[in-house]
Amino acid sequence: MRNHNLGYPRIGNLRETKKACEQYWAGKITVEQLLQESKNLRKQNLLLQKQLGIELIPVNDFSLYDQVLDMSLMLNNIPERYRPVFKLSGYTETEIYFAMARGYQKNGLDIPAMEMTKWMDTNYHYIVPEFEPNQNFKLFSHKVFDEFLEAKELGVNAKPVLLGPISYLLLGKEKKEGYFNRFDLLDSLLDVYVKILQKLSSMGAKYIQLDEPCLVTDLSAESRQAYVKAYNKLKKSAPQLSIILASYFGSLDDNTQLALSLPVDVLHLDLCRAPEQLDTVLDTIPDKLELSLGIIDGRNIWINNYNQSLALINKAKAKIGEDRLWLAPSCSLLHVPCDLDLEDKNANLPKELKHRMSFAKQKLIELTELCLLSSSSNNVVEPSLSPLGVNPEVKKKLARLKETHFERKSPFGIRKQVQQAKFKLPAYATTTIGSFPQTKEVRATRAKFRKGEITAEEYDKALKEFTKHCIDVQEEIGLDVLVHGEFERTDMVEYFGEKLDGFAFTTNGWVQSYGSRCVKPPVIFGDISRPTAMTVYWSKYAQSLTEKPMKGMLTGPITILQWSFVRTDQPRSETAFQIALAIREEVQDLEAAGIKVIQIDEPALREGLPLRRKGWKEYLDWAVKAFKLSASGVSDETQIHTHMCYAEFNDIIEAVAALDADVITIETARSQMELLDAFTRFKYPNSIGPGVYDIHSPRVPSVSEIVRLMEKAEERIPSDQLWVNPDCGLKTRAWEETKASLQHMVQAAKILRT
Ligand code: GLN
Ligand code: ZN
Repeated sequence: MRNHNLGYPRIGNLRETKKACEQYWAGKITVEQLLQESKNLRKQNLLLQKQLGIELIPVNDFSLYDQVLDMSLMLNNIPERYRPVFKLSGYTETEIYFAMARGYQKNGLDIPAMEMTKWMDTNYHYIVPEFEPNQNFKLFSHKVFDEFLEAKELGVNAKPVLLGPISYLLLGKEKKEGYFNRFDLLDSLLDVYVKILQKLSSMGAKYIQLDEPCLVTDLSAESRQAYVKAYNKLKKSAPQLSIILASYFGSLDDNTQLALSLPVDVLHLDLCRAPEQLDTVLDTIPDKLELSLGIIDGRNIWINNYNQSLALINKAKAKIGEDRLWLAPSCSLLHVPCDLDLEDKNANLPKELKHRMSFAKQKLIELTELCLLSSSSNNVVEPSLSPLGVNPEVKKKLARLKETHFERKSPFGIRKQVQQAKFKLPAYATTTIGSFPQTKEVRATRAKFRKGEITAEEYDKALKEFTKHCIDVQEEIGLDVLVHGEFERTDMVEYFGEKLDGFAFTTNGWVQSYGSRCVKPPVIFGDISRPTAMTVYWSKYAQSLTEKPMKGMLTGPITILQWSFVRTDQPRSETAFQIALAIREEVQDLEAAGIKVIQIDEPALREGLPLRRKGWKEYLDWAVKAFKLSASGVSDETQIHTHMCYAEFNDIIEAVAALDADVITIETARSQMELLDAFTRFKYPNSIGPGVYDIHSPRVPSVSEIVRLMEKAEERIPSDQLWVNPDCGLKTRAWEETKASLQHMVQAAKILRT
């Protein structure tokens, strides 16, 4: 049986790409050094895959920032505003590339970065292509050809990978919405794809992988037609080149017949997310089409269940024969860490757990093993794995829950009155989202503590000083509801994961989130429970320093779930409820300790949405329930806040309202409050803090600008529902601009009150 890989992580075992990029941005290495470094890394990855026995190895899966941005550059889809950079930088491709990715503030220019958004339902972010009426594409970047040659010279059987033309169109945005239709650009786009394919073919490429993840989403009739048109044209123009059409992250479902009708040579299916689609595909597969079975999970870190995989393989084999089959990971391995061997020295990762884990390199080994096994007639005897981290108490607690555990005692109208009587907050109450500047000093102190250079007592004392300073500043500025600043936390999920049972942590399990930013998701392997209080110590200390209400800060169950690698032996909803129960206990402990305003952050609620609309309701039902379970164990007097740092609420507003948080803070500054429209249309009943300034840049907003924004908010939401706060946490900011911005914010609130 043949095998191929869809994509290998490009960050490097030791995050070499990240480090090289950051050094280049800081002016510490030259562009030549950066390119050399990335060439070395590609070589390593190619040779590793070859050595592991991968037959068809992906190229152009490497990227210095993002593969969608690479595609934009290849197609010369460079928005006009970046053109001056090109000239200024002496026509270097790398400079304009990074300018698009990160913005450009040099040589008297100040151009913001292009928009970034989540790649399908992953936590990876891509740079959104922009489309304009009458736009002409042409071949610009030669990256894919260079990388193909590079691999050829290394004696690697290389398969170039490109984002397919239709997904490229669907994942971009029309710059002037409503003025034209992006599909008008299809012909021009296809001309360039044809050129690329022909050139690759003439260079000796036998296969090309075209990624079309949009094939697993709900498609309009227009998109379907575009698929037919595009793939007919591509096949006709480069008949020698075998096209591997890669679908992933879900089931082809109602697009199955469409996908099967396209004139491609190999169709790749994600059989980890959607094993059930194999039957349908096998029933109607055309005679010559080959199938690539995505049987190794590219989205999670667990070892493969060989018996399950072999069952799928054998089914396919029986129907269409070994010669028409390929084995592969379900999707690019971009979404898992590089190499589990790097965890050998990690004493915190229990052996029994590590034996059940598999990163990119291990997954490719599994792939080749499965190839061998599938060709022998012997069945594998796999030891059955007993679950790890079992806690019957947790299951019992969940089973005992009643409807009342999911609801606050009284409806919002009553709670609002009780809370008003208690807190006597002014109209346009001011607050922040939780974190305050994580300065060099804060980070250095933590590093010292981790290295054992200072004692736990010294660390505690330093954190208390940071916290006290933060509270003093807030008092001085005159904010109404204070926060402690979150100095004890590096990451809003890791902090809780480390304190909960059922979680494990890797030391090197990095995955790319966007550009040079990598995250190390915790591993949820067992039942989740809370051995002791997690945040009470800091909130209590902070409250003891002020008469003002101190807001307790927690991360919500869906966000913790969404940003972790999750166990697969029970439904995600079950795991979410376990986390929710632990958070609920924390909420109750905070309340008992005198913390009467508690925020439960859910920035990841939206990204958990299934790719298909028909899955939304089920997800939102349990997600909302999990949040409510965490938030409802308190008296009417206790004020529950939630926070979400994104913008599109239109299609989930009912679920957001169903959370029934007393106050929700959201991002709105960049859209000039337009995003509040969803809340207006829906007549959102509870209180809202629309962010009044964007925290992603050091820019200090003026008082009048904030007043103006709030006036816009008032046009949409009755003023007695409004709070005043920034868009998100202030962790990445410096103190200077933070103080100035918050002073302006408080002044603006005062003006609004009069
Ligand atoms: N409380 C967190 C903070 O202020 C919220 C961060 C987020 O929403 N991503 O940093
Ligand atoms: Zn946020």
